[in-house]
Amino acid sequence: MKDEIEVLPVEKKLLDRIDPSYGKWISCDKGWYRILEELDAKLEYLCSDYKIAQVKEKFGTLRFYIQGVPVGVVGELMDDAIAEASRLSAKTCEICGKSSMRGGNGWVYEPSVGTRVRGGWYKTLCDDCGFPMGYASPKDTYESAYDDCLTDLKDFYKSKNLEVPEGLIKYLTGKDNE
Ligand SMILES: [Zn+2]
Repeated sequence: MKDEIEVLPVEKKLLDRIDPSYGKWISCDKGWYRILEELDAKLEYLCSDYKIAQVKEKFGTLRFYIQGVPVGVVGELMDDAIAEASRLSAKTCEICGKSSMRGGNGWVYEPSVGTRVRGGWYKTLCDDCGFPMGYASPKDTYESAYDDCLTDLKDFYKSKNLEVPEGLIKYLTGKDNE
């Protein structure tokens, strides 16, 4: 119970930067906290009192919005740092923090990290975290939807007492009809 309410240093830092007019929360899981720490360090270097509007996960990647981006080179560098963090998040398991990027300093390499989907919700996860939570890769989801369509098609012909036209299944799947 204590763990659940413990506020980590990175959370405290980021929450303190969130403007009071926005909700004071960080809506992503802890696997991305290291990305947030590194991003905050960069942004702080560029603009020590920068303010955050929102930190969240959307469509499986990190969204980090700051308020009042400085004009000119500093603002551009801040935008670049945020874009880089978002790119990293697309290759980092949001739960355990393992990364499918090679050669990162200190990141634990896990090639399975990628986009997962569950009931229309996207998340970036590794297999070990994603499967127990019911997330599948978009490719698997697509293939199972395709299999369902083929079954419907075969059932349709069967319901009309018709043979499935010769070559149709092979045409659709590249495989002989079983
Ligand atoms: Zn994971």
